[in-house]
Amino acid sequence: MQGEARLLIDGKLVESSSGATFDNINPATEEVLGSTADATRDDMDAAIAAARRAFDTTDWSTNGGLRKRCLQQLQTALEEERELIREELVAEVGTPVLMTYGPQLDAPLSDGLLWPMAQIDTFEWERQLPNGDAFGMNSWRRVVKEPIGVVGAITPWNYPFEIIINKLGQALATGNTVVLKPAPDTPWNATRIGRLIAERTDIPPGVVNVVTSADHLLGEQLVEDPRVDVISFTGSTATGRRIMEHGAPTLKRLFLELGGKSANIVLDDADFTAALAMAWAGVCTHAGQGCAMQTRLLLPRSRYDEGLEIVKTGFESVTYGDPTDANNFMGPLISAKQRERVLGYIKKGVDEGARLVLGGNRPGQFDKGFFVEPTLFADVDNSMTIAQEEIFGPVGVVIAYEDDDDAVRIANDSPYGLSGAVTSASEERALSVARRIRSGTMSVNGGVWYGAESPFGGYKASGLGRQNGIEGFEQYLETKAIAGPLA
Ligand code: NAD
Repeated sequence: MQGEARLLIDGKLVESSSGATFDNINPATEEVLGSTADATRDDMDAAIAAARRAFDTTDWSTNGGLRKRCLQQLQTALEEERELIREELVAEVGTPVLMTYGPQLDAPLSDGLLWPMAQIDTFEWERQLPNGDAFGMNSWRRVVKEPIGVVGAITPWNYPFEIIINKLGQALATGNTVVLKPAPDTPWNATRIGRLIAERTDIPPGVVNVVTSADHLLGEQLVEDPRVDVISFTGSTATGRRIMEHGAPTLKRLFLELGGKSANIVLDDADFTAALAMAWAGVCTHAGQGCAMQTRLLLPRSRYDEGLEIVKTGFESVTYGDPTDANNFMGPLISAKQRERVLGYIKKGVDEGARLVLGGNRPGQFDKGFFVEPTLFADVDNSMTIAQEEIFGPVGVVIAYEDDDDAVRIANDSPYGLSGAVTSASEERALSVARRIRSGTMSVNGGVWYGAESPFGGYKASGLGRQNGIEGFEQYLETKAIAGPLA
């Protein structure tokens, strides 16, 4: 398997100007899948210049009809290569193939481009204000929405296609141009999109540029360049902070989708079997490499032992291993570095006095691949490191609470605020708890908020702004108020 190795710069598929490449590793087998262009700072500079020129000198930003046609062409091209993308995602991400029928591929492919494309016709691009008479001048007044300009899109490796499609759909539908810098661990889904844009669409040269590199600091070049108007970033909170610092001199507009440590609260009147038998899925799916995973399980002390037993039985049932096997919910972690990081957190949990109920090791049955066992800690205090920090591995912690107020307090006692869940026999009671949790999304009694029309993002250290929904769409727009004299 050799994916698209070339960059897309100013409408052309090109090698790195240095000729250098870097390896793409299959995390389940540790085999080198092939290579990808390792762009230089000069390549990034050319991509930024192309995106700037395309925004400033073509009609892309004002021609909604062209944008709709191009997005539809890209959609068609992606659908035609759907099965190749599926195979490639499993190989380079290590995602269980099962996930590609949902959030890794089919879900974003169903609406990530099409929903923002539909807004081109329905969005209120202009609105009239009542006439004004400020300072004695009778004026008509109008509010106009315009694209911001050049978007620097920086993306992670865990759900790479999903995140890229949701960024591209909104940034392009709103009339911006884009320089995309994908994560070096999973470059081929991005370079494939670049090739399809070049070969299968009328998207003008420079409107989308795809720049892959083993060097994370090419992302920083995007952040610091004054020709880039906005950074749309998904990744870790640590990198988000650094982007804020490095974006400050150019007052960069920032949209940051960062980490999470979400709570799954089961209230004492809930049907515990229904609520907890699948609790493992919110922790272990895709080896826990999801920002909105529900990694803190909050159980009422009055039913703690009963709940823990159900959770443990669920964790014991998790099938994991070869990601190409549709029976597996968990594949490997993305890299040896991530595996060591996760194992380090597990050791810290034991050292700080949490009770290891299950897992905690590299599984003995695989001699290759970056696997970690489904791992469950009980008797966790919310102040422990494993309850406060994002582990990004298949590690769940169970925490006891006294009453609903205590559950809300513990859930909110986190630097993060991305997502969460609450279950109760009474929807009203669950909803009243959900309203008190300081996070950007909440599931009540198993409801699913996900979709291109649904804003997703975080409170607190989980980020700034929203991906998707009208709220996300508007983030790629500037607002201008215009007035003129009344006749
Ligand atoms: P990361 O922050 O290490 O890297 C993300 C991207 O940023 C990569 O493309 C990387 O090359 C780039 N980058 C790294 N340093 C940079 C710098 N100084 N300036 C500019 N760009 C830089 O994150 P990751 O390890 O790839 O992904 C895992 C993290 O992403 C987790 O914390 C997870 O919670 C988060 N995440 C959040 C969401 C969300 O929507 N909130 C979704 C997926 C992942």
